[in-house]
Amino acid sequence: MDYKKAILQTVNERRARVENARILYLDLLRRSSELYETEKAIRALIIDKANGKEVDAQMAELERKKKDILASLGVKDEDLDPPYKCSKCHDTGLADGKPCSCIIKMCAGDAMLGEFSFEQSDLSVFPTEERERINKVYQTCASFCEKFPFTNKLNLLFMGKCGSGKTFIASCIANKIAQKGYSVLMMSAFALINRLHKYHTTFDESKLGYLEPLLDCDLLVIDDLGTETMMKNVTVEYLFHVINERMTDKKHTVFTTNLDDEKLRLRYGERTYSRLFDKRASVGFALSNCDLRK
Ligand SMILES: [Zn+2]
Repeated sequence: MDYKKAILQTVNERRARVENARILYLDLLRRSSELYETEKAIRALIIDKANGKEVDAQMAELERKKKDILASLGVKDEDLDPPYKCSKCHDTGLADGKPCSCIIKMCAGDAMLGEFSFEQSDLSVFPTEERERINKVYQTCASFCEKFPFTNKLNLLFMGKCGSGKTFIASCIANKIAQKGYSVLMMSAFALINRLHKYHTTFDESKLGYLEPLLDCDLLVIDDLGTETMMKNVTVEYLFHVINERMTDKKHTVFTTNLDDEKLRLRYGERTYSRLFDKRASVGFALSNCDLRK
């Protein structure tokens, strides 16, 4: 889905909810003469107020009565006044003139979200000397989450074998940042490259929908870099494009990978390597083999 479609869908859904609430209220007015009379009296008071009369006490009394009647009819406040699905953009799809994080999430249908939290981790699985080291990694990550988006580094890179807990940590970070209300996309490198391949081979207006969320989300987590399909003209080129654009825009990216730095250099080339290991912008962690999940 592209931004235009997602915004339209969000606005239309909002409109439908408001319209349903209006229809429900009209139906209630037909069904309850007591509610009808109360509503009529409230409207009369509104006109009185416009004419300068003091009506506040009376109005409060009528509003109370209306509330009681609605409660007796089994109607909840949110039935008549549907809450916004997104408190950030009030279901307009735009925040500060840009697509809201709810829209970016909608457009990234194949993204997963971090499902783990730091509280779930169990450091006792580590030998004592290792525990100290991993604790430092945790503190850096916790501070990254706390300061986000005003962090010292833009990129975090977790390197380690299967079972080293790198996906777990990345998932904890994704979760924490999403909880803070930022748009977070977490996807496997495999899904990411498939998405970029679709972008590369689509030539209609839906094209941008594949790429834009990857560039615009506040935090992108690319899990298991190195396990994606190596596609000619796609994998290396678009991966660099995404990393480079995000860094230029001062946007944050978290990577996890089984590969060590030399293998990363060989696979993606010097350009991508030097972005990933840019000392001013990135920090890397080598994790060893321990399952962190409780
Ligand atoms: Zn929104």
